[in-house]
Amino acid sequence: MSVAGLCHVCESAAARHTCGLCGQAVCVDHWQSTANACSACARGTGGGV
Ligand SMILES: [Zn+2]
Ligand SMILES: [Zn+2]
Repeated sequence: MSVAGLCHVCESAAARHTCGLCGQAVCVDHWQSTANACSACARGTGGGV
């Protein structure tokens, strides 16, 4: 079995994006396209809110 990779935030959904800041793979639910980062990084980065 080959798993493409799971979101590092929820660890249950398939990762679709890679955070440009921490390099972790995240699912669409935890991807912030406006910040080009995962939800965790986007929260601590100057991306608006
Ligand atoms: Zn997720
Ligand atoms: Zn990140």
